[in-house]
Amino acid sequence: MESQPEANLKCPICLEIFQDPVILWCSHGFCLQRWWTETSVTCPICRTTFLQGDPPQNLALKNLCEAYLLQTAQGKSDTLLCGRS
Ligand SMILES: [Zn+2]
Ligand SMILES: [Zn+2]
Repeated sequence: MESQPEANLKCPICLEIFQDPVILWCSHGFCLQRWWTETSVTCPICRTTFLQGDPPQNLALKNLCEAYLLQTAQGKSDTLLCGRS
């Protein structure tokens, strides 16, 4: 596990590969999950609350994650979902 690319693709909250990653204005990134509401979001890392409506999706990161998941989908299809069931 020394230089696995997935180290940069893991959500610090759920410790899985990002699912629909967003980057908050505090520059913390995580995947879009239930703490995101229509009117505000509190960063689960630094607890800063932002009154914003649109999640700033990190499409570049999302693409990286999707590419990674495609590469690894054959072997571990049960562990791909991040915060969803
Ligand atoms: Zn996550
Ligand atoms: Zn933050």
